[in-house]
Amino acid sequence: MTMMRLLFIFALAIFTIDNVSGQEKRSDMAKFTLVIHGGAGTILKKNMTAEKELAYRDKLKEALSAGYGILSKGGSSIDAVEAAIIIMEDSPLFNAGKGAVFTSEGKNEMDASIMDGKTLEAGSVAMVNTIKNPISAARAVMEQSPHVMMVGEGAVKFAKEQNLEIVDSSYFYDEKRYQQWQDFKGSIGTQMDHSDERADNTTEQINAEFNEPVDEKFGTVGAVAIDVNGNIAAGTSTGGMTNKMYGRVGDSPIIGAGTYANNKTCGVSSTGHGEYFMRAVVAYDISAIMEHKGVSLQEAADEVIHNKLIKLGGSGGIISVDSEGNFALTFNTEGMYRGSIREDGVPSVSIYKD
Ligand code: ASP
Repeated sequence: MTMMRLLFIFALAIFTIDNVSGQEKRSDMAKFTLVIHGGAGTILKKNMTAEKELAYRDKLKEALSAGYGILSKGGSSIDAVEAAIIIMEDSPLFNAGKGAVFTSEGKNEMDASIMDGKTLEAGSVAMVNTIKNPISAARAVMEQSPHVMMVGEGAVKFAKEQNLEIVDSSYFYDEKRYQQWQDFKGSIGTQMDHSDERADNTTEQINAEFNEPVDEKFGTVGAVAIDVNGNIAAGTSTGGMTNKMYGRVGDSPIIGAGTYANNKTCGVSSTGHGEYFMRAVVAYDISAIMEHKGVSLQEAADEVIHNKLIKLGGSGGIISVDSEGNFALTFNTEGMYRGSIREDGVPSVSIYKD
């Protein structure tokens, strides 16, 4: 046997061993996973009617099913994330798209972002008021523009050029949200509190501050998925926070705070008091902790949500999927509208701290 032949056989053996172990590892993993959220906050069973709870559960299942329909046919995680978010944006139950909360000036101004974990490409829009589905505009910014973030009138102009559906701003008006804003203004005033005194707050104190039904403050929606090709995507869409000041933009359209995805580690979508999520760079930090410390997704999520964020005084949660299809739905509030689905097609939906 010539030296060349020996080398060839050796190389073939190495390739085969590698390939086999790769396949074995892949078969242990979930083929695909989709997780969603519809906001975190003081969601208590005693404040919920049976009809309202059913409506939330049904809408979360519908969003999961939209994403599942794509992933189960071998579709991409980006498509699944967008489809799941559109279902929630179109529902007045959530603070995103139709049903967005009111600003201090009585308007609905929306933010959204999306990220592709394979390419690390990302897109976002902020302060848009006539784009029916802000998540699709964020995706168009990612795929059809040289930019990552577009805001206000420019973002709307771009969405029109991309033939996305534009609606009159009155489309976003929801009577229930309007009443919530009126009640909110009367009872509490603005939630924009940057006081340093909050630094030592406990979870209980933070929850007490937000002692109102969640949909008066939060209710952002988000989705994270890994597809059969191992590509992770994450997206988030919101109306922001009730009574937010003119010009205020939260964490949801900020890549690294509200949304992040990296095939090497995980995808994350955040919900909660955005000012704290921006300062804690929540979504990226979970990925970075996994990458640099080599810990599991759940450990990284716990560190950021139950330690770092709490110390700053921030409340809220995240949904996240790692590169093996494991997921973490982690929050430091009383509840978070959330759900998951995998290749068996059985949706799991939860609301309260179980
Ligand atoms: N994070 C959003 C914001 O601060 C609010 C939310 O999650 O409901 O704009």
